[in-house]
Amino acid sequence: MSRYPDLIAIPFNSVFIRDLFVPGIPDSPLTPPASGYWVIISGNNLILSAGESGLTLPMGKIPDWLIASNVPLTIGSWRGRPLHIIQAASNITIRPPFVMEALNAAVQTIDDATLGIGGLARQILNWEQQSRFCSLCGGRTGPFVREWGRFCSVCNSKQFPKISPCAIVLVKRDDELLLVRDAAWPAGRYSLAAGYAGFGESLEDCAVREVKEETGIDIADVTYVGSQSWPFPSQLMAGFVATYAGGELVVDHSELEDARWFPVSALPALPPTRSIARRIIDTYCR
Ligand SMILES: [Zn+2]
Repeated sequence: MSRYPDLIAIPFNSVFIRDLFVPGIPDSPLTPPASGYWVIISGNNLILSAGESGLTLPMGKIPDWLIASNVPLTIGSWRGRPLHIIQAASNITIRPPFVMEALNAAVQTIDDATLGIGGLARQILNWEQQSRFCSLCGGRTGPFVREWGRFCSVCNSKQFPKISPCAIVLVKRDDELLLVRDAAWPAGRYSLAAGYAGFGESLEDCAVREVKEETGIDIADVTYVGSQSWPFPSQLMAGFVATYAGGELVVDHSELEDARWFPVSALPALPPTRSIARRIIDTYCR
């Protein structure tokens, strides 16, 4: 069986930013926002400066047309300078020297460190937007001091960042792999079966259930191989390999467009190399 020693070194995991990013107190006005680096997010996209040294995070004063009246959040330092994150203005037309790059592009154009801090900012901004009001009483929330979270001054409840655990699993049968296809993916692309953990489930239980529900296949020997933070919008993907243990392939068309057994020697188009799905497949086939 293949081994998976390097599965922690995947983009969006903190390994690529921990030497560059020092988290700060999220609500403290560390510096006037005109100085330092900016992570500007628009949906799943990151807005970068295109210069002689390639694509980099914008620095210094940012034009108003880019961020409108959105309020930045200073989350620490990046390469020794203050780091601000902010949503881009809606419906912007990007003009030089700025460019917009997708964090989840089919072909990766952004280096792993920039991709990592972009993904982190996208998760934080998504959570900030979703936690503005208290889920118990509907009151307006404000930030904690000295830790990530939101506090309701009406009912005194606290909310903490929400991350959704998912299992993603490579299923092998002799020299074949079970791959699935979602209708929303680029034409011809297949990947590993995956899904969200439910109430009361271990991640191993989740892997078994998702494969059974989506494909009718029973699996055994479910073995954890690594995990990845996935900022679309805020999942934690736990990767497993497993062995076919029975059942006929029956595709659940309410969830999937297709599922098939592929010979390892003739795999279809696969997800980008930044994904744990691709890392597990590549490592298994190596
Ligand atoms: Zn409340």
